[in-house]
Amino acid sequence: MAASFRCPGGQYDTNDHGGTSMIKQELLDILACPKCKHPVRLTGDGNGLICDHCRLLYPIRDDIPIMLIDEARQLDDWEPGME
Ligand SMILES: [Zn+2]
Repeated sequence: MAASFRCPGGQYDTNDHGGTSMIKQELLDILACPKCKHPVRLTGDGNGLICDHCRLLYPIRDDIPIMLIDEARQLDDWEPGME
């Protein structure tokens, strides 16, 4: 299996300004963190989904959310006041 894991450069934008997302709200509503079953939310740049509970970032590739714990990244640079 040639699954290439692309690591987007730079920092993740966690601001919620919306508008640029390719993921529809209806899809977001049914998506949940596979680890804790909490709802996830889009990152500010729309390139990932964040579980605030686990502080995991799930990638979005080709507009498809990858809701796999193995693919998620731990958010260690959490900004205060975002919750
Ligand atoms: Zn979670």
